[in-house]
Amino acid sequence: MASAPLYKSRSGWNALLPQRIAREDVPATRRFRTIIVGAGYTGLAAARRLAELAPDEEVLLLEASTIGEGAAGRNSGYLLINPGEPSANAAGFSADWATRQFALARAGFDGLRKLVETHSIACDWDEATPTVTAAATARVEKSARQTRQTYLDWGLVAQEYGPRDLQRMIGTDYYRYGLQSLTRALVQPAALHRGLADSLPETVVLVENTQVVAVGEGAPLRVQTNRGEFVADRVFVTNNLHARSLGLVQNRMIGIYTYGAFTPELEDGELARLGEAPRWGVLPAHRMGTTMRKTGRRLLIRSGDSYERELDPDKVRAMLTELYRRRFPHMRAHAFEHVWGGLTAVTHNGGFYFGEARPGLYASVGCGGAGVVRGTIHGKLLAELASGSQSALLTDRLKQKGPNWLPPEPFRGFGATTQIAWEQWQAGRER
Ligand SMILES: Cc1cc2nc3c(=O)[nH]c(=O)nc-3n(C[C@H](O)[C@H](O)[C@H](O)COP(=O)(O)OP(=O)(O)OC[C@H]3O[C@@H](n4cnc5c(N)ncnc54)[C@H](O)[C@@H]3O)c2cc1C
Repeated sequence: MASAPLYKSRSGWNALLPQRIAREDVPATRRFRTIIVGAGYTGLAAARRLAELAPDEEVLLLEASTIGEGAAGRNSGYLLINPGEPSANAAGFSADWATRQFALARAGFDGLRKLVETHSIACDWDEATPTVTAAATARVEKSARQTRQTYLDWGLVAQEYGPRDLQRMIGTDYYRYGLQSLTRALVQPAALHRGLADSLPETVVLVENTQVVAVGEGAPLRVQTNRGEFVADRVFVTNNLHARSLGLVQNRMIGIYTYGAFTPELEDGELARLGEAPRWGVLPAHRMGTTMRKTGRRLLIRSGDSYERELDPDKVRAMLTELYRRRFPHMRAHAFEHVWGGLTAVTHNGGFYFGEARPGLYASVGCGGAGVVRGTIHGKLLAELASGSQSALLTDRLKQKGPNWLPPEPFRGFGATTQIAWEQWQAGRER
């Protein structure tokens, strides 16, 4: 496994945006009070908060890839407050646990919304489009109904959709039941990611295409990169799964690739076949299911899971085409203009690693889903932890469980691939 993600194809979302020039200049000084590894949502939020708390100090933010090309710009753009992520089903989660997760996700969401407003980030922020968690089979409809009851018990509104409502809205009779999802907004994720990076305070020095390969022991901390060594008193590790290659949180996270595709821009007649709603979102009610969005003049589809290795793009295209055709057999064509893969970290119990791993070394990693809002709040809280700030949210975050231990290879790989195959088979038409 590489120590930083090198994907086989560009993010479709990023490809739709104008060309952007990466910030690659190596700063004149190599000595910083703080270095952050990884400029996803977690790293960006940590950098911003550190700059707010210590406006006179420069922060070095190192990104192995470019802004918009990492998982942050490859995702489906759902800003979710689902406490059970990556599980779609809320049944079985205690009210107390859910309340604590909601508090985190809502703080992340509110923080992002404020930044988008303050900096006029053009990321198609959209709180009006209907988004539905949909089930295609009787078994999963049953669990989706239980999830809805759980939402109601938690005091949440959860509108229901019958098969006719869904057909009218999204243009297919594939689904038999839907409930209003816990999405609070939809965005163009690469545009959001770019906007957040480009609006960082001036004291944050972002350097892209710079991969951290090792962080030394002792004080100060020596940070080795493919572009030379930097030195810092504090290092923040916010590169999610790739923390493993820096010797952190090993045996507690696995890498799962999932895949996205965009159709070309569709003509009016074809767009009309995707239902009456001008825009919509569908999330799967089964963990191995398919996410979709009607966005702009395109259909977005996301599905598939593979353990630690990115599938070949041709194979991905064939898989996603089949899932698209199944749902919308009446479309004239089932072509995709962009197909891409993206890596997520998955932990066995859904817990993140969050805290001070050793003196001066802080990490927040292990985010498998809803990472746009959850990464944002975790990065902010990590900066506050390192700066000695206190809040009820931080205190509560520190009390939450981290990821539990996973057996070593080959048992881990065998277990994960067997479970993926079993759950995919079990998902049946939900895939
Ligand atoms: C296809 C897909 C769809 C998804 N859909 C959604 C969705 O709709 N909503 C949602 O909330 N989440 C979604 N996610 C998950 C979401 O993208 C992640 O949870 C989120 O990006 C995690 O944020 P992060 O900052 O923790 O990590 P990342 O965004 O992965 O950021 C880590 C950064 O660290 C960099 N890096 C790695 N190693 C190094 C190194 N050694 N040196 C320097 N830099 C390094 C990486 O290039 C990367 O940019 C999806 C993910 C995928 C792949």
